[in-house]
Amino acid sequence: MKLNITKPIIKYRNISKSFGSLRVLNDLSLDIAPNEKVALIGPSGSGKTTLGRLLMTLERPDAGTIEVDGEMLWHKEVNDQLMAADEKHLHRIRSKIGMIFQQFNLFPHMNVLRNVTEAPIHVLGLSKEEAKEHAVAMLKKVGLGERMEHYPSQLSGGQQQRVAIARALVMKPKVMVFDEVTSALDPELVGEVLAVIKEIASEGEMTMLLVTHEMDFAREVADRILFMDGGAILEQGPPEQIFGNSQNPRTRDFLSRFV
Ligand code: ADP
Repeated sequence: MKLNITKPIIKYRNISKSFGSLRVLNDLSLDIAPNEKVALIGPSGSGKTTLGRLLMTLERPDAGTIEVDGEMLWHKEVNDQLMAADEKHLHRIRSKIGMIFQQFNLFPHMNVLRNVTEAPIHVLGLSKEEAKEHAVAMLKKVGLGERMEHYPSQLSGGQQQRVAIARALVMKPKVMVFDEVTSALDPELVGEVLAVIKEIASEGEMTMLLVTHEMDFAREVADRILFMDGGAILEQGPPEQIFGNSQNPRTRDFLSRFV
């Protein structure tokens, strides 16, 4: 697929973010093209998750701007109060972005189908029938067409994570952030979740930001790999460059731990 990086769907500009005295992102800028699949790799604590959470408006930067699909998320010059007060604006932005976390965060008292239909009914205003139709299609896509009446506690971690993916997909976001989505899973359940993500990625119609420690997965699914360390992007490029011909000793050192 041809990527149009001259018309990015995501623009991070000079983003800095600290937690207390800890500087987590350091003047970071990044453009992501529509439908591009970007994998973020790097040591723990290098700021990868924070980059995703900023996009989801779960954190706000101390400095810099972020634009998604032509809309400014946080803009230091527009005062913070105004942005925070503008719920409609945040709501519109959030509806463009789906995020899947390490923990599945399903509603425990709802069956699988209701977990997936809740937001389409209450946020998008779909009828119950319409929401069910969409939910069933998404649950089939993630291989859970036979589990719709089950409750989360009756499912394996891999199945729960696939429900979480269906729940995000049914909102038809333009951008999906996958934040170490297999880190909490038993090793034998990792493959089924990665396979679902690979399939979604191969359909092409979604921009994806993938924070991952699964290097083979990153290599297969991503158009571009970003190596982060110390709150900055130290190296980036297509998978064959990063994994096969990295120019940065820190990238090479990091990757050597995975062989
Ligand atoms: P990564 O995803 O690369 O492991 P993170 O973005 O999760 O890195 O975190 C970077 C650093 O910021 C870590 O040291 C983490 O402990 C710290 N951090 C992240 N979120 C918070 C928070 N809400 N409060 C305090 N420290 C945080």
